[in-house]
Amino acid sequence: MDIAQLSERIVKGDRRALARAITLVESRRDDHREAAVELMDRLKDTGRQAMRVGLSGTPGVGKSTFIEGFGMFLTAQEKKVAVLAVDPSSARSGGSILGDKTRMERLSRDPRAFIRPSPSQSQLGGVARRTREAVSLCEAAGFDVVLIETVGVGQSETMVAEMADLFVLLMAPAGGDELQGVKRGIMEIADMIVVNKADGDLKAAAQRTRTDYAGALRLLRKRPQDPEGFPKAMTVSALEEEGFAEVWAEMEALVDWRREKGFFDARRAEQARHWFREEVRHALLAQLETGDAKARMERLADAVARGDMAIAAAAREMVAGLGDA
Ligand code: GDP
Repeated sequence: MDIAQLSERIVKGDRRALARAITLVESRRDDHREAAVELMDRLKDTGRQAMRVGLSGTPGVGKSTFIEGFGMFLTAQEKKVAVLAVDPSSARSGGSILGDKTRMERLSRDPRAFIRPSPSQSQLGGVARRTREAVSLCEAAGFDVVLIETVGVGQSETMVAEMADLFVLLMAPAGGDELQGVKRGIMEIADMIVVNKADGDLKAAAQRTRTDYAGALRLLRKRPQDPEGFPKAMTVSALEEEGFAEVWAEMEALVDWRREKGFFDARRAEQARHWFREEVRHALLAQLETGDAKARMERLADAVARGDMAIAAAAREMVAGLGDA
């Protein structure tokens, strides 16, 4: 595969090249990994920056409806929109909560949109690392907005927040006492809480829920990277396509403010550090699973099991030997 050519085609915005590149970064074959590393290196200086938006919510809250409607709202303004997903269920079972092919049919036919389901990897960390690279690829391909979707089940939200410039939590209208269902940790990473389904019979409940979240958000410590009024709670109706303009205006206001104050770049730099460390950690762990290291590990484990070596001494010997491989 000609990586130089592939990277040129991506920079020109060639969607087939982009899709192929994402398949390449998702592959676990060693030669593919090597090609992917070269590709990411070539694309690191395009100077292009998308707005990376993380979006989470429990199943049924209206994520696909929102992303489709909001995506179409953005493409109507000539923005190029990519939708990626981090789906923890794809790691566990190979099945998927988010990958359903019938989702977002209208948006997937939109020439300014690009939709990609979650990579299926054996562990969530792998899903996240590959999605992070897909985000960079979409950015290099000239997308203006990259939406990264996940489900509200803890760990995956933290990972998505680590690759996004801003994080949106989509919620359903609720009775007052359901509010506590949102974990504090998630409230703390959210930049916007958007209460969906503010229409018909649910409208009043949605507005009440918004007020409740706004109150809860005010109780959080003010973060230096937030302008006045953030984190913010809003309502939308994804079904009736109402409130998209307001949500977009707030997103832009937040990102503009952070850019101006230097928080935007600082956060991206911190995220780069984070993902670098993750890659190193993963590479070290992977080393333990292959060839010599794996055999040595087994031998030392046997010695420990027999009682011939102490655990600590064997571990130390194992780790000291890693550098030699
Ligand atoms: P997801 O599982 O979070 O992706 O949720 P979906 O987008 O599949 O929506 C789940 C259900 O909620 C579907 O029946 C949608 O039609 C409905 N829904 C989504 N958005 C709205 C909305 O704004 N208002 C109303 N009333 N229903 C909605």
